[in-house]
Amino acid sequence: MSKSTFTALDVYKILPQTNCSKCLLPSCLAFAAAVVAGRKKLEDCPDLAANIIAEFAAKYQQTGEMEVGQAEFIDKLQKKMLATDLEAVAPLIGATVQDDRLTINSLGKDFVFDHQGNMTSECHIISWVLAPALSYITHKTHADISGKWLSFREIKGGIEWQVLFTSRCEEPLRQLADDNPDLLNDLIDLFMGKAIDWYEADIALVLHPFPKIPILICYQAPEDDLESKLTIFFDECCSTNLHIKSIFTLCSGLVQMFTKIAEQHL
Ligand code: SF4
Repeated sequence: MSKSTFTALDVYKILPQTNCSKCLLPSCLAFAAAVVAGRKKLEDCPDLAANIIAEFAAKYQQTGEMEVGQAEFIDKLQKKMLATDLEAVAPLIGATVQDDRLTINSLGKDFVFDHQGNMTSECHIISWVLAPALSYITHKTHADISGKWLSFREIKGGIEWQVLFTSRCEEPLRQLADDNPDLLNDLIDLFMGKAIDWYEADIALVLHPFPKIPILICYQAPEDDLESKLTIFFDECCSTNLHIKSIFTLCSGLVQMFTKIAEQHL
């Protein structure tokens, strides 16, 4: 989806139109223009309800529009796998090769890929892992973990996906964490995560969906009249190691999996 899919007027129509400047801009119209330019998120307007944000995302960035052609995408990636030198790529992506099969650890579990791009796993197959994993293996460029964290919008291509990312990943995970106060700490144990100290976060944990795709989830619990806040950051290397579409697919799949875990086990 290009940025021009929705206009400043489209954004302005859903705003409270009070020109209160709580978003640190002089007017709602200025805010709408900033959203279209990618300098502000809808969530930066504190008076805009979450359901209105979600409706807007659904209207302008629907699944069918952004995630179209997943089967064709996997087919294309499997063809790229045939041309990939697994021995050569393995050290670049933190994987290993044995018997002409490549093994990647994802969240503490091993996933094995053959030259045709077929995936097997020591646990049950998680279908949404396949496309981002093949994309990760066959990606043209590779970088090591830098230790520098970027917000989603700062990743290459992130601005165009920001609204959908917020509505499918950060916002549902925030609500999940609100409803299940132990969830994020439990994820550390379940998925070999690591807790870290992070500015203004009550809980901050690092997970590795792939060895060189570290993500940092920062959660601030609700307090008095203040809503909770949850932000997912990405190591700078993620821009080089995975296409933005696959980063989104990976994160939305993770959040869906966390939701099921919360429903079933917590
Ligand atoms: S905070 Fe919201 S309502 Fe206030 S000026 Fe900004 S966009 Fe308009």
